[in-house]
Amino acid sequence: MSNKLVILDKQYVWHPFTQMRDWLKSDPILIKSGKGSVLKDIKGKTYIDANSSIWTNIHGHNHPTINRAIKNQLEKVAHTSALGFANEPASILAEKLVKSVKIKISDSRNPQLAKVFFSDDGSTAMEVAIKLAYAHSIRSGKTKRPQFLSLSGAYHGDTVGAVSVGHIDLFHKTYSQLLFKSDELMPPYCYRCPYNRAKPERMDARLYRKCGWECVDKAEKIFAAKKKKGDRYAGFIFEPLMQGAAGMIPQPPGWLKRVTDIARDYGTDLIADEVMTGFGRTGTLFACHSENVQPDFMALAKGLTGGYLPMAATLTTQKVFASFLGEYSEFKTFFHGHSFTSNQLGAAAGIASLGLLSSPSSATDRKRLQSDMEKSLNPLWKSPHVGDVRQVGMVAGIEIVKDWKKRESYKLDERAGIRVCDEMARMGVLTRPIGNVIAIIPPYCTTTEQMDKIGNVLHKSIQKVLG
Ligand code: PMP
Repeated sequence: MSNKLVILDKQYVWHPFTQMRDWLKSDPILIKSGKGSVLKDIKGKTYIDANSSIWTNIHGHNHPTINRAIKNQLEKVAHTSALGFANEPASILAEKLVKSVKIKISDSRNPQLAKVFFSDDGSTAMEVAIKLAYAHSIRSGKTKRPQFLSLSGAYHGDTVGAVSVGHIDLFHKTYSQLLFKSDELMPPYCYRCPYNRAKPERMDARLYRKCGWECVDKAEKIFAAKKKKGDRYAGFIFEPLMQGAAGMIPQPPGWLKRVTDIARDYGTDLIADEVMTGFGRTGTLFACHSENVQPDFMALAKGLTGGYLPMAATLTTQKVFASFLGEYSEFKTFFHGHSFTSNQLGAAAGIASLGLLSSPSSATDRKRLQSDMEKSLNPLWKSPHVGDVRQVGMVAGIEIVKDWKKRESYKLDERAGIRVCDEMARMGVLTRPIGNVIAIIPPYCTTTEQMDKIGNVLHKSIQKVLG
């Protein structure tokens, strides 16, 4: 049976972000079941899911509460259209989301988010945010030619709009003629900061030259330049606290508040992509809130359903909503939607997942996991091939380098990250590299022993593969 499934996969399935010529050279790990943080393949071998099935799973696999919620909903109805009809779980989930993202207004410029537009995944949640912000910026008289500013290295999904505001050459260059133009702002990639003149020596690796916030000055300049042209951006798009697919790049405390304050000074709306950071991943329920930032648009996906089903949401303000209201004949309607918008099974999972997140035991698990991650990843600093260990809450990136003294990177075609992750899989830990960065982002239920194993296996794999 196992062999038959492998043959079927290799004959028919085209895998995402995968060089299929390499894929076809060996037999894939074929996952059959999962429980908590552990996945089992068709041959009975078990693995720890150290990247939460591409950053989606938060409470663990096969969770009885989410299973029950989906089964109960399935007994009623699986899906009906949101074009023309409301439904029970989507209405309840929308209210819960709006209540969860409420922020205490200590900064008068922080809006409240009041409306939820459901879609299917992170990319569609970002498409919705981009299209809403585009139309809103014209209708509110902010700009006649809406343009967006996003961070270098940004990744916001793979649909054409989301790719247009992304800045990863490797993924996006092929499609450059197909995309609309968006501007780029240098993110605070402290490990490779062009202004950091500290000697790249081990003892200095974490003690950077006292930061002069040059990257914040750059933000001021870019917004000012736009103003000089008599214009302003329709939206500033960012992942708060940690840029994921850019290579797990954390923002130093204070950066987000400073840069978003500048954006607001220049009349630019904020679009927070919390697809990876949302639902507790970075410590607070939503990453923006740890810096007292409330965006005008917030994209949520991945952990929304506990990582069970493809469902996403874009939250926005009453003000934005109002700019789409009018007489039917004015055609101010938001002409956008998907067949599975407001899907009942996804919404039922979402309600259950939010319930779990607010339970005291989940809060305890998250606190413990964050500290377990720190303890088990800390020894990696000793490895000569580890340049940087970056952790925010329960997400970490380990940047592997040829030589930590020079911070010299492996070339992409050396496939160092891929080789390390392949070795980790052989030792029973699954994750995926982002170039030379190994992502460690396990489900919140990961035990101390499991986290210990993840750290050890990563250390041993780096030693074995890179010497
Ligand atoms: N935004 C961010 C920050 C992401 O990490 C991702 C996916 N990794 C996306 C958007 C796109 O989400 P999806 O793959 O669900 O379309």
